Amino acid sequence: MPILNSQNLKNIEVSIVVPVHNEEVNIDYLFERLESVLHSLKLNYEIICVDDGSKDNTLACLIKHHYQNSAIKVVSLSRNFGKEIALTAGIDYANGAAVVPIDADLQDPPELIRELVAKWREGYDVVYATRRSRQGESWLKRFTANSFYRVICRMSRVPIPRNTGDFRLLDRRVVEVIKQMPERTRFMKGLFAWVGFKQISIFYDRAPRYKGKTKWNYWRLWNFAVDGITSFSLVPLKIWSYMGVVLSLLAFFYAAFLIIRTLILGIVVPGYASLMVVTLFLGGIQLITLGIIGEYLGRVYEEVKQRPLYLVRNRYGFNLNHQGIEKGEFVNQEA
Ligand code: UDP
Ligand code: MG
Repeated sequence: MPILNSQNLKNIEVSIVVPVHNEEVNIDYLFERLESVLHSLKLNYEIICVDDGSKDNTLACLIKHHYQNSAIKVVSLSRNFGKEIALTAGIDYANGAAVVPIDADLQDPPELIRELVAKWREGYDVVYATRRSRQGESWLKRFTANSFYRVICRMSRVPIPRNTGDFRLLDRRVVEVIKQMPERTRFMKGLFAWVGFKQISIFYDRAPRYKGKTKWNYWRLWNFAVDGITSFSLVPLKIWSYMGVVLSLLAFFYAAFLIIRTLILGIVVPGYASLMVVTLFLGGIQLITLGIIGEYLGRVYEEVKQRPLYLVRNRYGFNLNHQGIEKGEFVNQEA
């Protein structure tokens, strides 16, 4: 059903932003559900899909939907940049008075948009959807996710809401702030929380993935966690000065003990074992410390390089004078 809405960009009320990577099996159903919710809300909306270097038919499928419904717009990135960056790209292109990032695999129920919008209309700037339960996820995944939230809440001064993904509603004011943030390591959950403003959460039961497989294996999740912690906490860096102080104190007392013992008992047989233990222990600690400094230094290096966050290969459904071009991206405009 072709819907021709010659939208005035200024009038878009809600922009839905969907990062998509190899999701051809989910797209039809995703749009079906999104459209039915958005139509019933009688909102002037747009759906911005960011194709994050998919290898399957995702892009063709998205374009097909764009031709059926002009409110569906597509940004296709030049390669796979990862979900956080795809989301950033989508937010950059969104024009709505509110922006709602949502996963393409229907783990975030589109029907919840109704409640998000209702709270937004009550005057909240950020309405986040917190998972009451996680279905279809293994015990290990739930356990690691919980531990991660616990650690990051302890370490970071910004309260990062637990069990909350990227599914939320952001008012334009918040979106503008996030767009100004220049950092390359984009831990979106953290950035969304960092801005503050009037926030509220609503609860929902997280559904299992509709079709297809998750792209997050444990190694990727681990790296994601390290990104999150290093972008929002300096505790791992600072802790080593305290460790140093404690170890030096211990070493001092041990030295005193050795001197006194030598004075009293004379020179005893050499302590090979204790020497080895101390050397190995300190060597290990030093390597860990260096590694952690390396993690931060690497990120500083990433920031300093100032490369563009993402490259757009093609766009479908945007006006030519869209702000994206002023940013000096290489864009091949279509439609
Ligand atoms: N995604 C993406 N780029 C990637 C990996 C994932 O844009 O490199 C998208 C994916 O298409 C989906 C969302 O990010 O819309 C969440 O991915 P997934 O369901 O695999 O993650 P999980 O729900 O298991 O955390
Ligand atoms: Mg998912």
